Amino acid sequence: MAYLKLKEINKIYPNGFHAVHNFNLEIEKGEFIVFVGPSGCGKSTTLRMIAGLEDISKGDFYIGDKRANELSPRQREIAMVFQSYALYPQLTVYDNLGYGLTLEGVDEDVIEEKVNWVADILGLTEYLDRLPRALSGGQRQRVAVGRAIIRKVGIFLMDEPLSNLDAKQRVTMRSEISNIARSTGATTIYVTHDQTEAMTMADRIVVMKDGYIQQVGSPFELYFKPANVFVAGFIGEPPMNFIRGKVENGIFRIGGEPMDLRKKPKFDASKYEGKEIVFGFRPEAIELGEKENSFVVNGNVELTEMLGDNTNVYMNINEDRAILKIDPHDTPEVDSNISFSIPYERVYLFDGETEMVIDG
Ligand code: ATP
Repeated sequence: MAYLKLKEINKIYPNGFHAVHNFNLEIEKGEFIVFVGPSGCGKSTTLRMIAGLEDISKGDFYIGDKRANELSPRQREIAMVFQSYALYPQLTVYDNLGYGLTLEGVDEDVIEEKVNWVADILGLTEYLDRLPRALSGGQRQRVAVGRAIIRKVGIFLMDEPLSNLDAKQRVTMRSEISNIARSTGATTIYVTHDQTEAMTMADRIVVMKDGYIQQVGSPFELYFKPANVFVAGFIGEPPMNFIRGKVENGIFRIGGEPMDLRKKPKFDASKYEGKEIVFGFRPEAIELGEKENSFVVNGNVELTEMLGDNTNVYMNINEDRAILKIDPHDTPEVDSNISFSIPYERVYLFDGETEMVIDG
């Protein structure tokens, strides 16, 4: 049985705004789940309903087999880390870490043992006597995480906990948080708008937009089997290239070049005759030149960016644009005309109206 279950959860704020629609999700014990999506999509609202900080307007939330809608945050046995973690400025790291346990009336000896355990996991041992103002942003963030894990609760909720850190600290904390979550066996729900964080940390990702779940899946599934244009464009950097156009006699044209869509096994050309579709391919899913079993496209190089491990090539293809990711050794001249090939199986086709995937 799932450990956490959200069934048809809705949030309608008192002003009438419907922020979350029919949210369904089952989470296994020990899973690391990431809610991701653009600002305002309802991630924090959903997390706050799970935490008990926000009423559930409609639907049922279960912890184990117990309906938990009416439980207080404390009864839910959760720990939370927010974006704006507030450490007590007048307390040392030791006291900040132990504060929650002190309030609960836990023995000093036990507190000491737990503080030392957490400090060890988070590399804070040598800072235990310091006040927060004498710590770096990353160290403060670790104290905030430590305060949450010290309670050894079963459920760990985090809302953009790394957003105040610089890029390098974020990378380090990303793996630290995943490691801690896994080693403590906690079930974690982590909110971010950063797709890289989602991809690197999650067992499963929930992609949201405008209060609706778009897709739930492993990072691999979301990347290679996106359900719709939104997910395909949201996951991946640079994002998937999309070219819109009409199907005529089973042919789709990119920059005037005919692509015979009958090469795509799941695409029913007759169903889409005269209709608009979206042709998608990832920047790295190409080869330069004209290859077998591929759609061949010609275009003009507008700009190249050499990034070290690859070069991003910005292409003009008549009215359309695309980004290609290639080996820096093959970087073409700006303003030259080049051909590239997209293997049939690496092309995604989406319905132009619903934007749902047809083949890919
Ligand atoms: P962000 O990444 O910006 O935090 P989010 O995906 O977490 O975004 P939420 O904070 O869940 O989004 O907000 C979802 C929607 O609900 C937004 O449009 C927001 O303006 C709205 N909203 C949030 N709180 C309230 C409130 N108390 N009353 C009315 N609407 C609200």
